Amino acid sequence: MITDINELDDSTVIEADICIIGGGAVGITMAREFANTHLDVCVLESGGFEYEAGMQSLYVGETSGVPYFDLTDCRCRIFGGSTYRWGARGAPMDEIDFKNRSWTPHSGWPVSLAEMRPYYERAQKLNGMYSPFHYDERVWESFDIEPPVFDKEFFHYWGFQFGKIIMFGSYYREELKSAPNVNIFLNANVTNIQSNSVANHIDYVDVITLQGKKSQVKAKTFVLASGGIENPRLMLVSNTVEPEGLCNSNDLVGRFFMEHPTTPTGTVITSDMHKMCDYFSPGQIGGRLVETGLALSEKLQETEKCLNAVVSVRPELPESEASQVFIMVVWDFMHRRIPENFIKKIGQILKDPFRVAANCYRHVVDKPKRFNTKSLYLEVRIEQEPNPDSRVTLSDKKDVLGMRYPRLHWDLTEMDKHTMKVAAEAFGRECERLGIGQFIMDDWLTSNDLMWSPELVGGHHHMGTTRMSDSESEGVVDKNLKAHTMDNLYIAGSSVFPTAGYVNPTLTVLALTLRLTDHLKAILKQ
Ligand SMILES: Cc1cc2nc3c(=O)[nH]c(=O)nc-3n(C[C@H](O)[C@H](O)[C@H](O)COP(=O)(O)OP(=O)(O)OC[C@H]3O[C@@H](n4cnc5c(N)ncnc54)[C@H](O)[C@@H]3O)c2cc1C
Repeated sequence: MITDINELDDSTVIEADICIIGGGAVGITMAREFANTHLDVCVLESGGFEYEAGMQSLYVGETSGVPYFDLTDCRCRIFGGSTYRWGARGAPMDEIDFKNRSWTPHSGWPVSLAEMRPYYERAQKLNGMYSPFHYDERVWESFDIEPPVFDKEFFHYWGFQFGKIIMFGSYYREELKSAPNVNIFLNANVTNIQSNSVANHIDYVDVITLQGKKSQVKAKTFVLASGGIENPRLMLVSNTVEPEGLCNSNDLVGRFFMEHPTTPTGTVITSDMHKMCDYFSPGQIGGRLVETGLALSEKLQETEKCLNAVVSVRPELPESEASQVFIMVVWDFMHRRIPENFIKKIGQILKDPFRVAANCYRHVVDKPKRFNTKSLYLEVRIEQEPNPDSRVTLSDKKDVLGMRYPRLHWDLTEMDKHTMKVAAEAFGRECERLGIGQFIMDDWLTSNDLMWSPELVGGHHHMGTTRMSDSESEGVVDKNLKAHTMDNLYIAGSSVFPTAGYVNPTLTVLALTLRLTDHLKAILKQ
């Protein structure tokens, strides 16, 4: 059942076996997994079915440090969460990403890739990814392209696929409506998670609507799934028993915020720009668009004492390149939005209709696109160093519900910059050795200070703020995603990642979510 919580009487008390806070990709996946079981499940979702500016404004926050996206725009407060805007690009994390690396402080997951594999397999189906799919160099078996043989001492190929654009809120809505044991409450903003007086058990959560209606939800088990910035925010504001916030006696909640810093690092000069682009955007497999990248070898990471990273060559296109504009328009329609400046964009598309038509044809016959390319640049995306100073805290300002804003300080380190440089330099050397081109590195990357390119961005990936660890002194949740200091609070989503790797996070988030649901089903059987 899906209900607008405004329809309930003021001060209603809802009871459930499991209460999930947040109805995004994680909350919806859990609800589907629990549907038609003996468990009574309640999902509290702040948003409704449609995007509303008032609700979205609850995502306002402050930023400092390395320039970051406006926090109001980089996540979506709607049933389905940020899948309302996402790109569905994904791959499993690399094996090394799960390992404890002596040269990377705070590295090492309590879970291995081998344990994650069956969940990755299941998770692929949830966001419409093609399976079986080889994410390593075997990705090339499906293409009629002979890729350059980069030295394995430095790089290995990694494949990414774009799943179907599944907006979880609309795609899974009907199925959830008819689940008899699942109650989804929309417009339900959780503002406080209340523990008992000795701070080892959650008793209830407080909910308030923008119309001012209040309710309380009591459950045997709670799962916090409100995203990588809101998870720590909610824990920090829930401070009636522990003044420093829920589960925060070791001052870890909100720390270790990680993104995927991504930036152009220099120009690639080659005699055949399209051929070079094909090595990184080779076409489709099973109807899913594929991109490849060159990931740093374990050996190079160890020798250079750097993090993981992936490099790809991208085309620099003239502003408003017709095929690119066409793709953006189609993209908006796939997300059920009318594109901004639609008429202007139609005009831009009509400036080069033959190229657009040719690229549509190439798409249908699974061939790489041919953009009007000015030049090529090398994009590097790195794993960010787990860094306690990169963190979410609370601002003194409050939203209309009286909740303090989150304040995000995005802090990058020398190791982050060193990793970018190692990756770019290795690519340049390999390009020359293979005789496929020349790489000219940007000046900002050659400087020894912590100067960053103005084009450096993240990927809208909010990771690490309630990290998973074996010990309470190193993280907030254990390997089963249970808060170390609580007996009935679990945390799900990318906030539990101890390290971030270089791949988009949601496939791993969904795999961990499936693993958590299996665990809860097993322990709640009794
Ligand atoms: C523009 C964009 C592009 C992206 N592209 C990709 C991509 O290509 N590949 C990829 O892997 N990932 C991508 N992502 C990230 C991906 O969307 C997230 O990893 C994923 O949505 C996380 O799921 P979640 O359920 O943890 O959080 P969310 O989807 O953010 O859901 C959290 C939910 O909690 C609700 N909520 C928040 N606070 C409260 C509260 N106090 N009370 C009740 N409910 C609350 C929110 O309304 C929301 O519905 C992208 C994100 C954005 C914004």
